[in-house]
Amino acid sequence: MVSTVGEKKVVHGACPHDCPDTCAMLVTVEEGRAVKVEGNPDHPFTQGTLCGKVSDYLDRVYSADRILYPMRRVGPKGSGQFERISWEAALDEIHDRFEQIINQYGAEAVMPCSYLGHEGLLNGLTVGDPFFNRLGATITERTFCISCTSTAYLMTYGPTYGTDPDTFKHSKYIILWGCNALSTNVHLWSFIQEARQNGAKLVSIDPVRTRTAKQSDWHIPIRPGTDGALALGLMNVIINENLVDQDYVEKYTVGFAELKERAQEYPPEKVAKITGIPVADILTLAREYATTQPSVIRIGVALEKQAGGGQGIRAICCLPALVGAWRHLGGGMLQAPMWPFPIRWDVVHRPHLIQPGTRVVNQWQLGRALTGEIPLDPPIKALFVYNCNPVTQAAEQEKILAGLAREDLFIVVSEHFMTDTADYADIVLPATTQVENLDLMFSWGHTYVTLNLPAIEPLGEAVPNTELFRRLAARMGFEEEFFKTSDEQLTLEVLDWSAPVMQGVDMELLKSQGYAKLKIDPVPHTEGNFPTPSGKCEFMSSMKVDGNFVLPAFRQGYEEYEPGAAIDPLPDYIPQRESAQSNPELAKRYPLNLLSAKSHQFINSCFANLPKHSKLQGEPRVIIHPEDAAIRGISNGQIVKVFNDRGTFQVPAIVNNMTCPGVVVAPLGYWRKLSCAGTINAATAATFTDMGHAAAVGDALVEVTVTS
Ligand code: SF4
Repeated sequence: MVSTVGEKKVVHGACPHDCPDTCAMLVTVEEGRAVKVEGNPDHPFTQGTLCGKVSDYLDRVYSADRILYPMRRVGPKGSGQFERISWEAALDEIHDRFEQIINQYGAEAVMPCSYLGHEGLLNGLTVGDPFFNRLGATITERTFCISCTSTAYLMTYGPTYGTDPDTFKHSKYIILWGCNALSTNVHLWSFIQEARQNGAKLVSIDPVRTRTAKQSDWHIPIRPGTDGALALGLMNVIINENLVDQDYVEKYTVGFAELKERAQEYPPEKVAKITGIPVADILTLAREYATTQPSVIRIGVALEKQAGGGQGIRAICCLPALVGAWRHLGGGMLQAPMWPFPIRWDVVHRPHLIQPGTRVVNQWQLGRALTGEIPLDPPIKALFVYNCNPVTQAAEQEKILAGLAREDLFIVVSEHFMTDTADYADIVLPATTQVENLDLMFSWGHTYVTLNLPAIEPLGEAVPNTELFRRLAARMGFEEEFFKTSDEQLTLEVLDWSAPVMQGVDMELLKSQGYAKLKIDPVPHTEGNFPTPSGKCEFMSSMKVDGNFVLPAFRQGYEEYEPGAAIDPLPDYIPQRESAQSNPELAKRYPLNLLSAKSHQFINSCFANLPKHSKLQGEPRVIIHPEDAAIRGISNGQIVKVFNDRGTFQVPAIVNNMTCPGVVVAPLGYWRKLSCAGTINAATAATFTDMGHAAAVGDALVEVTVTS
């Protein structure tokens, strides 16, 4: 609590959304009603501002469309017809259906489905894990994003936070690689601007001329999925022009000889053909990057969303060590600095409850799993969805819809709103928003722990996810004490408060200040000290990683995973799976690379139903280059059909040169029922990247035609 004056109080909060900034909020409450949400001005990263998505958070909280009571379906699946029921009746029905299904098919016929609709350690994507592990349900692998990037990064550097974003202001050469910071990491921008005021150059490498690219000193458009080739080409120049920091490489890296040999396979002329970037630009970038220190690379999540995304990121990761950028304050690389947060995964997941051999299903392939395309024995007979809207956010939308429409599939959805997914539920449960519940937040974009205190009483009969699973556990007769743990107690258990990084941080400090900085070294790798098996940066990785390596944050019980295809320990360039190079026949029919960009006003599919956000975001669209539009007779604003063998969506075409020839871009997050016909995930593929089982969502070819 910040202050209380009469009936007015200001409460510490934290943004719960899937965003690296994890803003510290202040919530003003008058007579029991939240009246204002703003950024905490004292928080060094938030600096008093929330992004446009969340500054109107109370529109979400008090929306007339909020789900406030449990409901039961009364119409056909997908019709959105429901009646209000009591919590008791809802829990009884879930209990009875679960019991019936488990008796007939076994507990693996039940599958949870969750993601980052909430990022909190209490109420986020893992809150149901202890319950479902105790039940014996299918283990859900949740690798929609960052698992590929993280695997590649860990193979090179180990679990280090890398360059603290707070130190970006000291950088002299900043590369945003596949990162539209102004839309997706906006609070880093002020640190970048401070660096620029001090003379830093900002380079943006992106196939799309995003808001960030437009405001950069240099935008380098690159063909999607060719980032690994560019990184290897830069290495080629840096090595052959003797721009390597030999001292750093000799003392603090392993595998330079092998990397050097690999880089020789990527001369600038060859890289120019692969990436579409002129040779002169490759040379300039390599020379400037190597000789302007401190230099820092911020990699975005988009890079991983290709068949070869992991190896491409491995190649990019090698660059800072090659040029000795880690020596300097503000130099190195920023991936996702979540690694030092001392999260107690044993408490979060309760993995000791998992029965050995319990099967795993990846929810990126939910459509295939529900429709039987992936043969499952037993089939999935119950789906429990929370913090997640797979109809719009997972691939192969038509298959997901067909699966959800199965009359024999019992579906429970806990939500704030009647999403495209909730429409198919048998039981809908009301969830609290962040101003109504307690939570503790880590971050994947900075190094502060943030506390979120409940500012108001829950609306209607909404409950936090923690309470939802306490109620379910009690109704199922689970007697373990940890199913009764209060939220207050959980905040004390989900972190290791005795870890060195928590020195000086306790709950009292969090309650009074709202946040606390982890105790970390702002220049952690001046002398190597990388947390890898060798203690050095591993150009040649010694980690025994295979294609199915998945991090515990995304997949509990990962050590039992079946081995996949071995990954080359050296970085390389792997072409897209759907490309003229890899599949010329497919590319003839579907010649355009489809990219799904994060929306400026939505976070995944959150906020896409709110009038103010929708108006600012504008209608769904596909951006197409004038050359591609002209060939197809498409004019600006015309409704077009975007399609491939997987599905179709229809949207207005925006004809401009924001994108490269051969690449079309459709913003993500629009709800299907609020769109013209289908959304982008009708056309994306439920395939994986080369590492971490991440979603290869950017590896999709389509054709675009005028609708008849
Ligand atoms: S979405 Fe990101 S930038 Fe916006 S308020 Fe939340 S954490 Fe901050």
